[in-house]
Amino acid sequence: MVKTNDDNLSLVIHKKGDLRLEQTPIPTNLGPNDVLCKTHSCGICGTDIHYWVHGFMSSFVVKEPLILGHEVSALVDQVGSNVTHLKPGDRVAIEPALPCRMCHHCKEGMYNHCPVSNTQVKGSPQFDGMLTRYFEHPADFCFKLPDNVSWEEGAMVEPLAVAVHAVRRVNLTLGQTVLVCGAGTMGMMCLAAAKAHGASRVVMTDINEFRLKVAKELGADQTIHIDLKSFNVETYVAKVKEALGGQGANVTFECTGNEGSTKVAIYATNNGGKVALVGLGPLEVSAPLVNASLREVDIIGVCRFRNCYPMAIYLLEKGLVNLKPLVTHKYPLERSLDAFNKMLEPNNNAIKVLIQCNKDFN
Ligand SMILES: [Zn+2]
Ligand SMILES: [Zn+2]
Repeated sequence: MVKTNDDNLSLVIHKKGDLRLEQTPIPTNLGPNDVLCKTHSCGICGTDIHYWVHGFMSSFVVKEPLILGHEVSALVDQVGSNVTHLKPGDRVAIEPALPCRMCHHCKEGMYNHCPVSNTQVKGSPQFDGMLTRYFEHPADFCFKLPDNVSWEEGAMVEPLAVAVHAVRRVNLTLGQTVLVCGAGTMGMMCLAAAKAHGASRVVMTDINEFRLKVAKELGADQTIHIDLKSFNVETYVAKVKEALGGQGANVTFECTGNEGSTKVAIYATNNGGKVALVGLGPLEVSAPLVNASLREVDIIGVCRFRNCYPMAIYLLEKGLVNLKPLVTHKYPLERSLDAFNKMLEPNNNAIKVLIQCNKDFN
């Protein structure tokens, strides 16, 4: 089962600040329930940048060399002997966190809380990711892409699935008003998913004018530019309420993890509303919990996703979300260091930077 062409260029992080392109072995001895995949596109995520710049992300610490990459679309190259729902040549989106399938979380369907899945997130320590030419993956965590969903969209199924999960966590219903704090990839995905689920009016905040312009293209009804120099919570809460006709939002997706933004998120949510904490910042932030409690604002956690890929792919297939404006840059795998450096440039006008991992695709 060794490929005749044994090029398996991969982007490997060795330690903080040390990213290298190097050859790694193409997986052999495919398990009966696994598939060998040829990576098409891989999105760079904030967590990848965090590993590179800081060497860790929350409790995940890079201790040994690790192939990065977890937002992937790929071509099925070979299938294991038990695999019936996929065949070589199928296009798939990859769900990157692999649970044990045995623990009580898994058995209750909450496999995103499986302790094993926290140690088996492709591209997170210490589990090799998919910024590589070839990788193997369990077949049931590979989701077939319809013909009208592009490779680029396929690589964005992973972050879109987070937004689908967030929308489900808050039980967003038809006609509700929404505040999205932060117009990076996650904020954009929450905007798109909220609109697709019937949100009536979505207001977005960000410090970057370019991102807010793209948010409008994606359907944001109103955007609020945050000026960090003169930032104060009260002013921005008032601006959000003004944009929503004098009321707080029914549902807020906090997608920055920033303390000031988290405060705005809580104060700008209506009594009885919900705040989903989608963005990850410092492990502890100060937040107005008494205010939230007295106004019965529910604060809701969001951890990756579970059973959300089919819905995310459906939204793309039916044109219920338009993620195409989010792809601002594309690089071949050979230039992935340039891609990572682009993400660090100030005013880079980058939202989703994709790396194309093989040359011989259509
Ligand atoms: Zn990601
Ligand atoms: Zn489990």
